Amino acid sequence: MSHLQIKRNCVVCKEEFIAKSSKGIYCSIICFKRNWRKLQKENNVVIPKVKRIITKEDLLPKHYLSIKEAVVFFEISEVTLRRLIKENNLKYVCLKNRFLFLKSDLEGIT
Ligand SMILES: [Zn+2]
Repeated sequence: MSHLQIKRNCVVCKEEFIAKSSKGIYCSIICFKRNWRKLQKENNVVIPKVKRIITKEDLLPKHYLSIKEAVVFFEISEVTLRRLIKENNLKYVCLKNRFLFLKSDLEGIT
């Protein structure tokens, strides 16, 4: 018996097999592939994105601001903004159900 023949239990199917090298942990290529796929899946686990806090600096280069961004940039309340929209006191663009404001228009109201 060669010293390279090592009795092991496959890490995937738990079957006993003869490992051809000290590194062999799978009984067959099938188990190797199965485990490799599993590892791939585990590595691909998406870490939930931490909600980024928008700062004024982020918004400086922007010409258009959403409600949420306008609240941060001009330090006004969302309620105020929505009221101004309702009262037609503020020009806005409605894009895919989102309100966008031109920064210069918002400057006039603050
Ligand atoms: Zn196996």
